[in-house]
Amino acid sequence: MLDILIIGGGPIGLACGLAAQKAGLSFVIVEKGCLVNSLYNYPSTMTFFSTSEKLEIGGVPFVTVHNKPTRADALEYYRRVALSNHLPINLFEEVTNVTLHNGSYTITTSKATYQAKRVILSTGFYDIAVNLDIPGEDLPKVKHYYQDPHFYTLQKVVVVGSSNSAIDVALETYRKGAEVTLVIRGSEVSSRVKYWVRPDIINRIKEGSIKAYFNSNLQAIRQHEVDIQTPDGLVTVPNDYVMAMTGYKPNFDFLRKLGIVLSDDKFIPRYNSETMETNLPGLYLAGVVCGGLDTHLWFIENSRIHADMIINDIVAKR
Ligand SMILES: Cc1cc2nc3c(=O)[nH]c(=O)nc-3n(C[C@H](O)[C@H](O)[C@H](O)COP(=O)(O)OP(=O)(O)OC[C@H]3O[C@@H](n4cnc5c(N)ncnc54)[C@H](O)[C@@H]3O)c2cc1C
Repeated sequence: MLDILIIGGGPIGLACGLAAQKAGLSFVIVEKGCLVNSLYNYPSTMTFFSTSEKLEIGGVPFVTVHNKPTRADALEYYRRVALSNHLPINLFEEVTNVTLHNGSYTITTSKATYQAKRVILSTGFYDIAVNLDIPGEDLPKVKHYYQDPHFYTLQKVVVVGSSNSAIDVALETYRKGAEVTLVIRGSEVSSRVKYWVRPDIINRIKEGSIKAYFNSNLQAIRQHEVDIQTPDGLVTVPNDYVMAMTGYKPNFDFLRKLGIVLSDDKFIPRYNSETMETNLPGLYLAGVVCGGLDTHLWFIENSRIHADMIINDIVAKR
């Protein structure tokens, strides 16, 4: 029987593994995709808003030439940390159920069954996109994930949203020769957009390089055009691709299936904020999964401390 099974091999799952290793506990990390799967699926051009030392785990220095690391820097770092510490990680194995019997857990995966005294759930939020729920959303030209701007050269691209992801897509595709239209629900570009990027997008909109509809919603998507509901009425614009950068959410069905209680409004899971233990004894939450629909609350910078909080609690209760 393992002391701990950790679900999710993202930065925070790895941080939990490092803390468990330091405490001399037996554990396995089970990850449904590749190592740090979410980061692997980020845009190839992505730069973190955090400086590298704020993304460090287990006290291992994250050395970069530029103060804000890129996706490639982060993949190098987390891979090196995992491999050099010989963390036991089973990749491409999805946890499908977790049940509690007589004080210990049975964890069922796509490949095996495990027994563990404790479980840490660090499954993030990047696997499930928030849908627009409008006609045409299932067309292949509608994307919730974005890899690279080159593909969109000379294409008419509608970007929905005004978060960091949306604004990065709008600016990058515009600079590679796409004709970009932004559809923004609010009256301005989100104040949470990186402070060094926000003036850039505001000026591109002001000069007319990027067209933006504020207080507007995308209403329907067809093969060659889209309808936008604007304060001046319905506008139809020609379109090749829709980038629906409307956010992501944790797998609430999975959390409910395990028996974790979620709040009514934002589906924030119930946990003790000092120990990270949920309403299920010995089942802990770590990382960005803790935020429910408020996915901006937690990030690597402020959630990596969950690892020590959890392991300290496990050791104290042993
Ligand atoms: C574009 C972008 C930029 C960001 N920039 C920053 C930044 O600058 N600074 C910062 O601090 N944060 C940043 N964040 C947030 C942060 O990178 C992520 O939220 C981070 O990945 C959180 O780590 P995590 O380990 O909690 O979750 P994740 O990295 O999402 O890891 C969860 C893992 O669990 C796996 N998983 C899910 N379900 C299962 C299952 N059933 N069985 C097995 N495995 C499963 C997933 O495949 C995934 O690998 C950014 C996020 C995005 C999207």
